[in-house]
Amino acid sequence: MALWDKLGSVGNVEDRRGLGAGAIGGGLGIAGVVITLALNYFGIAVDPSLVTNTLNQLTGGDASQQTGVQPEEFRGQDDYEKFAATVLGSTNDTWRDIFSQNGETYQEPKLVLFRGGTQSACGGAVSQVGPHYCPADSTIYLDETFFEELKALGGSSEDVAQAYVIAHEVGHHVQNISGQLASGTNEESVATELQADCYAGIWAYSVKRLGVFEENEIQEALDAAAAVGDDRIQKQTGQRVNPESWTHGSSEQRVAAFKAGYANGSVSSCQYN
Ligand SMILES: [Zn+2]
Repeated sequence: MALWDKLGSVGNVEDRRGLGAGAIGGGLGIAGVVITLALNYFGIAVDPSLVTNTLNQLTGGDASQQTGVQPEEFRGQDDYEKFAATVLGSTNDTWRDIFSQNGETYQEPKLVLFRGGTQSACGGAVSQVGPHYCPADSTIYLDETFFEELKALGGSSEDVAQAYVIAHEVGHHVQNISGQLASGTNEESVATELQADCYAGIWAYSVKRLGVFEENEIQEALDAAAAVGDDRIQKQTGQRVNPESWTHGSSEQRVAAFKAGYANGSVSSCQYN
């Protein structure tokens, strides 16, 4: 465990775990999970029809249904909510500093914790898509059970790996508010994703300087970045490795992008377009 207690800031986290669609859970099974994730690993906007269909499957046809009382286990800020809020808070610190150095004000994103499915301004969020950022409501959607899938792909479910994923999504938020979010072609998508990995590295650099990581803990983040490389996922899912179909970059590219930001914390190290 990294020494998260050294970080004092708290980000804006809303806990919707255990509400509505989340309680129904399950649904598509492992095959659907891997295939969908390959489409949108740590992605940005999500195809609304895919989301609506999956939400309908989860809720039995009524994707707008999300009511009920949150189960006891998720009330009163459990350890995971505190962890997510701490990581998000530290990314706020990192990016507020960088923006203010350019005379700009950083607008903080929000993070929603959920299970199964939940509503978002991008048409909805479902676990099967993996952690993602919705530009329309400047919000990161995260079902932390995703990290078990990441582990199954050879990644890490340790805390530093999870923090990397949150910081990557924050990277998309930074791109969004600075007009750098592009994902039209596969090439643009790869550039956008690698830059988000590089931005995650910038966050890790700022946290490292505060003494949060223990010896070699950063390797957890590097393992996670490697596990979600397009070539690795294609191999894992029995597909031919085809660089033209990549949307996020290879394992090697993703690790290199993270390291580029981590090396000196400089935004100028993260030019991919
Ligand atoms: Zn991404």
